[in-house]
Formats: sequence, C-alpha cells, structure tokens
Amino acid sequence: MRDQITIWIDPDFREFHNVARSTVEQLVEIAGWKTSFVSEVEAADFVYLSKPDPHSFLKSAGRDGWKNRSNCRPKLIDRTHIPSNAIIPDTSEVDIVLAANTLLSGFPERYPNIAQYAGRKIEDHGVPGPDISEWNLLDIPLVNEFAENIKNLVEQNTSVIPAKPRWPKGKCFALCVTHDCDRIQRFRTASFFRDGYVATCALDPKSAALNFGKGTFAFASKLKKSGPDPYINSWKNWIAFERENEIRSTNFIASWNKYSANASQLDVPYRINDPDLKNAVLELVNQGSEIGLHNSVNAWSEDRYDAECDLLERMLGLYPSVYRGHCWSLDSTNPERTMRRVAATTNMTMSSCLGMNLIHGYRRGLNYPYRPFDFESGDYCNSWEVPPVMMDQSLFLSGNTNEERVGAFRKRVNEVRHAKGCFVLDWHTDSLWQGFMAGMTKFVMKEISEIAADTNCWTASVGELVKWCREERWQT
Ligand SMILES: [Zn+2]
Repeated sequence: MRDQITIWIDPDFREFHNVARSTVEQLVEIAGWKTSFVSEVEAADFVYLSKPDPHSFLKSAGRDGWKNRSNCRPKLIDRTHIPSNAIIPDTSEVDIVLAANTLLSGFPERYPNIAQYAGRKIEDHGVPGPDISEWNLLDIPLVNEFAENIKNLVEQNTSVIPAKPRWPKGKCFALCVTHDCDRIQRFRTASFFRDGYVATCALDPKSAALNFGKGTFAFASKLKKSGPDPYINSWKNWIAFERENEIRSTNFIASWNKYSANASQLDVPYRINDPDLKNAVLELVNQGSEIGLHNSVNAWSEDRYDAECDLLERMLGLYPSVYRGHCWSLDSTNPERTMRRVAATTNMTMSSCLGMNLIHGYRRGLNYPYRPFDFESGDYCNSWEVPPVMMDQSLFLSGNTNEERVGAFRKRVNEVRHAKGCFVLDWHTDSLWQGFMAGMTKFVMKEISEIAADTNCWTASVGELVKWCREERWQT
C-alpha cells in the first residue's frame, strides 16, 4: 500500500496555486498522511480544479472564490457558518480547501478590525474581539473538522496506509500549560520611580504623580512586609504545583523591557537578570519545563527577535526555542510574515502566538499544531504554531462568579477532548496573587490537576507537542 496521498492542483489557479497547495498539504498532514503533488491528472487520488466544480472529491469554488477571500462573510450552510467565498456558486456545496484557507489565513480577524480592550483601542496586533463569534470560531475548530472530512474522503476513496495517530499511544487529547511572565514584583519600588521620572520628562504630571505615589507605597510595603513578593510567590506556587502534578510547562520570559531601546510602554517592567527570575528559571529547567521568549511589543517592527534571543541567552545561559509576543504582538497585516522572519533570523522554530485576550476558542479554526504559511505567497514560515485556546483573562470574562468560570472551563475541556485536540492554556505567572481575577486561578488549578491525572490525556510542553507532530508521529 502507498503511504502518500497524490494530489493534482490545477495550474490555472495561477497566483493561488502555491497557497492552495500548502493548504491541502496541511489538511492532509493534520489528517495523518503526507502528500505527493503530481503533474498528471491520471496519477492523482484527488484533483482540485480552478473552475467551479461541485463533483470531484475535492470540490472547488474555483479561482474566483480564492480572489474573494478578503470580502467574504459567514454564511449558514447545514448549521455551520462557512466563509461565503468557499460556497460553490449556485449550489450549497462547500470547497473545504478554500474554506480552511480563509479561516487559517485569518481573514475573519481582519474584517472588521474590532479588537477592543476595556472600551479603548490598543495596539491590537490584529487580535480579534467577540465579533469573531459569528464565524463559529469560538465553538468549533472548523479547520480541524475540514481535516476530518479529508480523512473520511481518503479512507473511502484511496488505498493508502491507515492514517497516522493524532497522539501518542493511549492518548486521546493533549493539555499544554503555558505561562507569560509579565510581572515578577508587586512592590517594584525602583521601576515605579523610574516610570515617574520618565513621565516627568515627558511633561505628564498626572502619570508622574501616580508613579511616584506607587513607588512610595511599594517602598513602604516592602519595609513593612518580610518574605517574598506576592507576584514571584505566585510563580513559585505554580512551579511547585506543576512538579506535584508532573506537568512540564512552557514559560515565556521577556528579555527586552520597557526601559530598553525602542521599547513600548506596554512592555514588561522587570530585568532579565533579576535574581528571583533566574532562580525560577533554574527550578523550571531542572524539572523538565521549557523556557521561551516573551518577545517585546515592537520586536517585529524593529526586526530584533535575534537580539532578544541573544540577550536571553547571555543572561540566563539558555537559548529559547519557542516564542510568544507580549500582547500577542505580531505584524497585524500579515502575522505569518513575522513568523517567517523569526525563523530566518533566529534558531526558534516554534511559536504559540495566535491567541486572544477577551474570548477563548479557536482563532484560526485549529486546536492542533500546524505549519503556518504566508496567505499571499503560500510559502511556509519554516516553523510550527501551537495555537493557544484559553488565556486567564478570557476565562475571567466568561462568567460572573468563579463557579460560572469553572463551568466554562469544563465545557471547553470537553469540547477539546471530543475533537481530539490540544488544550493550550496561557496563564500569567502572577495569576495566583489573591488580587488577580477574584482568586479564580486556584479553582482552575484543581481542574488542571484532574485533567493531568486523566490517563487519556497527554500533558506536554510546546516543544514536546511539536516534536511529536514533526517527527515521532511519522515513525509510528
Ligand atoms: Zn505578556
């Protein structure tokens, strides 16, 4: 039996040929096979035509459908909202390659750009807001479902080897715990005074007074209290919890702070060589957890991912293999362009950077690691994305009480388990501080320890997930 799916893609797709090719290849790969593209129609298991074609196995909305990716709307077909450009004219048939591409390329998040943060616009980096729900992306990992459709087509119509398993033997779904380290000191006297000085120089007396006031309070609190700062303490409690539950987490740490050259005021306030931070990193590495780069907000516009990696390596003695932007920062017009640039200029080959702030779900329709590609050229970024599903803040906003929030958490877990997906959590390292989100995190930890104890669940770091999808899966 053959071990590859053969596919012929119509050369008349012209400028969309390469991007259609990468899309099909990704869908087939997620389904569990490798693809071989052939130049003869007769040699192909599947053909994908550039004219509207409701009859082939791979139904096509044609080249015009691809041209219309940027002005499509969600349209209800068979109880699911499908990008309108992927519906084959005069039929209710769906071109799943194009539908998958439209979602995977992030067209819904560019229409309209609705990212809001507490009512005000921030540097949104294209992060979608609640309006994205009209595409079903908060409820259904649609691209994942399209890959399942492909799997059924292959199994019914070809004689290739069985699909490769989605997860290691005996595992039905995965849990990936990640942390962004944004703050390590609640009582950061020096840096509040520094913020006050910066505000004074910028002739902003209100902000200066606020920061000097905070600095004085922090100084007084530090004098009064002994013992560790509550923020670093929160992180230490997370580390201890993960050791007890045998969870290897992925921890994103910033090397560039708000006082560094060409930084944003939104960047983190801590120093990468802070002794408390170094100790936490050492402990994490010792227990098999992973350190990633929490790149600065301007890393992509200043093209300095390499400098941020080098600084992290110089200060902590280890080079990050994975990154996630602070505030999910990426080039909002084409995030994959940033990913391509990162792969070209650093040794990082993994990311977990396409997440959301206010809502949880499947921003690009997937809950499984995949290889992103440029939506215009179709060129691969030469790296893997492990898509985040839920951030602490988004869970906090999905209920009025911790009971409701735990309910929303369980609902999401069941959904991911059912889809055989990967539940990627993003919880800030200081989230266990009592003043953070109404004490929600300790309830979430109870849920996490139950999932981690489930023998059907594979608990893994971003690096372990990618290693599986890139290599080990294909050797089974
Ligand atoms: Zn951050």
